Amino acid sequence: MLKVILLKLFGRFFPKEEAISPYRINYKSYYNAGFKAVFFDIDNTLVPYDAKANDEAKELFKELREMGFKTCLISNNCKKRTATFAKDVDSSFTYKSKKPSPDAYIRAARHLDVKVNEVIFFGDQLFTDIWGANNAGMYSILVERIGEDVLTQIKLKRYLEKPVLKAYEYVKSN
Ligand SMILES: [Mg+2]
Repeated sequence: MLKVILLKLFGRFFPKEEAISPYRINYKSYYNAGFKAVFFDIDNTLVPYDAKANDEAKELFKELREMGFKTCLISNNCKKRTATFAKDVDSSFTYKSKKPSPDAYIRAARHLDVKVNEVIFFGDQLFTDIWGANNAGMYSILVERIGEDVLTQIKLKRYLEKPVLKAYEYVKSN
């Protein structure tokens, strides 16, 4: 009963899966399961807030491309930050994406000629990344954030995430 209520209240914020890091994923198994694209949040998901693309990130995108995946960065950050990162990892991107609105996610999928249910999305925040991916009908994976939260609004959201994460843990284990 509690599970049903929690799902009703918070289910839209729940990721389909949790993972430690987007760098420790068996992408091949997702490819074999029919997924065709991998979308990512940038800040605190791939690198710390506002950090440049490092070798690990560049290598990951190269591997994904070689595997046959299309990639896109869905960021709420500005054009300069997002475009620079995207150029470094050689990926499509959308900036000022207004997550959790599903619009940017859906437009990006259309642009890359994949269906929304063929896209895996990685992000570190429930109320922007995961909610947005769920809204768009994508397969959402919550990862542990890299680095510290810099913006006050993100710190606040992090605080509000706590009860939702508790609810998620309960639903998962019951
Ligand atoms: Mg983030």
